[in-house]
Amino acid sequence: MHKVDPMEIMLSDIFDKVFYNREPEISDCEYCEGDGKIQVEVYRSHNCNRDVGVIDVKMVKCPDCGGSGQMEYVINE
Ligand SMILES: [Zn+2]
Repeated sequence: MHKVDPMEIMLSDIFDKVFYNREPEISDCEYCEGDGKIQVEVYRSHNCNRDVGVIDVKMVKCPDCGGSGQMEYVINE
């Protein structure tokens, strides 16, 4: 059974940050402006009760950031 040494993980994390500068930059998602949600218009076609189409607006999870409102950018220099 393989055991993972927590010290090893910590050191490897530090190693990554120091030597590869891989600490991600976090900033607000540009697509939803940090809301994590976007408005979409849902067109409902007319039926026997309505003779005009109705537009509903609903909130959905932002597809860019997956609903977190934040984006991680990994800087590679
Ligand atoms: Zn977003």
